[in-house]
Amino acid sequence: MSAGIHVKKCQACGSYTDAKIENCTHCGHPIHEARRNELKKRRAVEDIHIPIWRINNEDPIWLQILKRPVQLVQLMLYGIVAFFIYLATAFAH
Ligand SMILES: [Zn+2]
Repeated sequence: MSAGIHVKKCQACGSYTDAKIENCTHCGHPIHEARRNELKKRRAVEDIHIPIWRINNEDPIWLQILKRPVQLVQLMLYGIVAFFIYLATAFAH
């Protein structure tokens, strides 16, 4: 066996198959399916649109001052939410 061979573990039967092959040589299970689902899931997470209360240049100065701490709290909350989404996807399998 050559040293440069790339193998992939089959999710169905646990045996190692050449990563260039689409289906497991032992059971026929598509070995790239898990990675494809993972990418799809990750893309779905990135697609979540987070509305931030934006500070407009036309806003009066009191409104800009009012918005600043609100925006900071929002960003912190979204950071925590994003972290939990990351954890959920990282341990989902
Ligand atoms: Zn298999």
